[in-house]
Amino acid sequence: MANLIDGKAVSASVRAQVAQETRELIAKGVTPGLAVVIVGDDPASRTYVNNKKKACAETGIHSEEYALPATTSQEELMRLIDELNVKKEINGILVQSPLPTGLDEKAVVDAILPEKDVDAFHPSNVGRIMIGNFHYLPCTPAGIIELIHSQNIEIQGKNCVVIGRSNIVGKPMAMLLLHNNGTVTICHSKTKNLKEICQQADILVAAVGKPKFVTADMVKPGAVVIDVGMDRDENGKLCGDVDFAEVEKIAGYITPVPGGVGPMTIAMLLRNTLTAAKLQNGLME
Ligand code: NAP
Repeated sequence: MANLIDGKAVSASVRAQVAQETRELIAKGVTPGLAVVIVGDDPASRTYVNNKKKACAETGIHSEEYALPATTSQEELMRLIDELNVKKEINGILVQSPLPTGLDEKAVVDAILPEKDVDAFHPSNVGRIMIGNFHYLPCTPAGIIELIHSQNIEIQGKNCVVIGRSNIVGKPMAMLLLHNNGTVTICHSKTKNLKEICQQADILVAAVGKPKFVTADMVKPGAVVIDVGMDRDENGKLCGDVDFAEVEKIAGYITPVPGGVGPMTIAMLLRNTLTAAKLQNGLME
């Protein structure tokens, strides 16, 4: 049976560290601040925003919510970003996606000052990640690296396979594994021989968005299997991209859903906000 990687526990320890550093920063007169912008009334987005605000409060990070109606125009949203870009109390700006149809998400991300882009989605931060000279890492892939390190698993020299090439998970994930000296293969919907490629993986990251997509016959015995998926099974129950019940019998390590990658994402957002506050106050280079 695989060792379970407990995302809740690792996330709690990252949050405790962030809380400690936040207290030290506040003692120096700097309170980290995060602005969370939500447009419209998507229930999943509302839950994510509430969780982010709660996590900020628990760590001592100041947070401000900007809840705008679904009828908000592009100009109004861009004006808000401009205001937040210059607002002193705000070190990080997060715009909850997806935005309602008709709003240009890319234009919004481009408008956020790179030093306040705690999601690390701005092209300037994406470029920095590519060349290995970054302050912020996108939260989900950064959380996954933290999970792997928490088990003292060596990435260097390992065959790493990432299924999925989205800008927020798959591509940056592959880049971070590469920075850690993994030998990385990225798979996507046009990949041929997916099963054979996955069977070679020492570390397999599934970011597909399809329930139980990774089956036991795709997994090398003893492999580290990281499940990013947040899907619904045939009964509407939350599950991942990995067929957990079967894969845990042969993997060396596995992350559960829920309780694996998910809790790490918010923890890394808090860390990025702390970093932003330090950078903007000359307390970090
Ligand atoms: P996405 O943008 O939809 O990307 C999915 C990727 O999977 C695409 O690159 C797609 O390939 C690839 N794919 C689809 N079908 C495939 C197939 N049959 N074989 C191989 N590759 C295939 O999704 P995402 O935003 O990266 O998210 C992926 C999953 O992670 C979702 O379940 C999402 O909810 C979850 N997620 C979780 C967290 C968290 O905090 N836990 C954060 C973000 C996302 P093409 O590029 O060729 O279309």
